[in-house]
Amino acid sequence: MDLTLSPSETEFRDEFRVWLEANQPGPEPAGEDAAFVFRRDWQRLLNASGWAGVAWPKEYGGRGATLIEQAIFYEELARAGAPSMANVLALAMGGPTLIAHGTEEQKQRYLSPILSAQEIWCQGFSEPDSGSDLASLKTRAVRDGDEWVVTGQKVWTTFAHHAKWCMLVARTDQDAPKHKGLTYFLMDMEQEAVQVRPLHQITGEAEFNELFINEARIPHENIVGGEGNGWAVAITTLMHERFTLAFGLQLQVQIAVRELTEKARTTRGATGQTAIEDPVIRQRLSQLMIEAEVLRLNSYRGLTAVMRHGVPGPEGSLGKWHWSEVAQSLAALAMDISGPHAQLVEDEWTYRFLRSHANSIEGGTTEILKNIVAERVLGLPRMR
Ligand SMILES: Cc1cc2nc3c(=O)[nH]c(=O)nc-3n(C[C@H](O)[C@H](O)[C@H](O)COP(=O)(O)OP(=O)(O)OC[C@H]3O[C@@H](n4cnc5c(N)ncnc54)[C@H](O)[C@@H]3O)c2cc1C
Repeated sequence: MDLTLSPSETEFRDEFRVWLEANQPGPEPAGEDAAFVFRRDWQRLLNASGWAGVAWPKEYGGRGATLIEQAIFYEELARAGAPSMANVLALAMGGPTLIAHGTEEQKQRYLSPILSAQEIWCQGFSEPDSGSDLASLKTRAVRDGDEWVVTGQKVWTTFAHHAKWCMLVARTDQDAPKHKGLTYFLMDMEQEAVQVRPLHQITGEAEFNELFINEARIPHENIVGGEGNGWAVAITTLMHERFTLAFGLQLQVQIAVRELTEKARTTRGATGQTAIEDPVIRQRLSQLMIEAEVLRLNSYRGLTAVMRHGVPGPEGSLGKWHWSEVAQSLAALAMDISGPHAQLVEDEWTYRFLRSHANSIEGGTTEILKNIVAERVLGLPRMR
């Protein structure tokens, strides 16, 4: 891939840079609820100027930008240290899935409120006994006239407490082979039959939830991609999740490496030396800088695959796996630099260290991603 910007790409970058300078959102407030409101307002501000769905088609409220321009957009956000947007699951996964598999009516109905953050989305895939082996899920949907009646339990459902819509995969055919009997629904979260209970993480926050679904009603027209086709639609969602994670998060790593270098320059140990004067710390930092650059270049490789084939490929799994290792090593190094101060939960890096434990689980565990890379990228024999 040629990484030199064309004149029109340079113009695009400069236009967004000027916009960002004029619309600085300021620092994000502490606390999950306050941060959510802040990110929602930030998304609305971006959307009001047509910057929320940069690569989405213009007819659905997007800017119709190329994928390279979208990459430039993310790089500029990272350069400015801007916060992420509130409706992140819908922007990165739900919207692109609807654009690929939805009917025209669904696109007209759902895409615009995603961009404006009027309707927040969550992802109801994982269940207590079905995470990595998603196709074994047990939540069942039974047809009743023009509606489906859904009963089951979902878990680890991020932002379910803010969500209006849930991307829900349920079993609609009990007799079909496990990958074939699934259907992908958009479930309205605002009904009595859906109970959301928060789950507290090691950070103390309740970012995700359990969903108890007891005869929830979903209109037939809310099926995405056709009855019994849920596995293919869910794979589209997961591919977009990993591709976008790999691309967006490598940018966060670049920022974190810069911040950690600054921390190493300014943190003094018991001897009065700054951390950066310690050769072992310097070596670990340099290694992480190299890895951050490898992540960046691999994310462009993933972008090339999308430009060639129209959809993200299994390479996104490599980026997500590598990112989780780099993010966890960065946070661990920050703890060593902080020394005893790391024991104070008020320290931003202590929060990041605790949160980083989830990085190798969320969006697919590292073991599963290694299996995908082995089988689908390297072409090694299948495990089973
Ligand atoms: C912060 C966070 C947010 C999340 N948000 C959401 C969300 O919004 N929506 C949603 O649906 N889910 C969400 N998840 C769930 C996530 O997708 C699952 O946790 C993940 O897929 C793993 O499933 P599991 O927890 O059931 O673990 P399991 O699948 O039970 O795995 C347990 C262990 O066994 C290993 N293992 C399993 N199968 C294999 C195999 N074939 N080969 C080798 N090793 C294997 C795994 O790697 C893991 O170490 C979230 C998780 C986290 C941590």
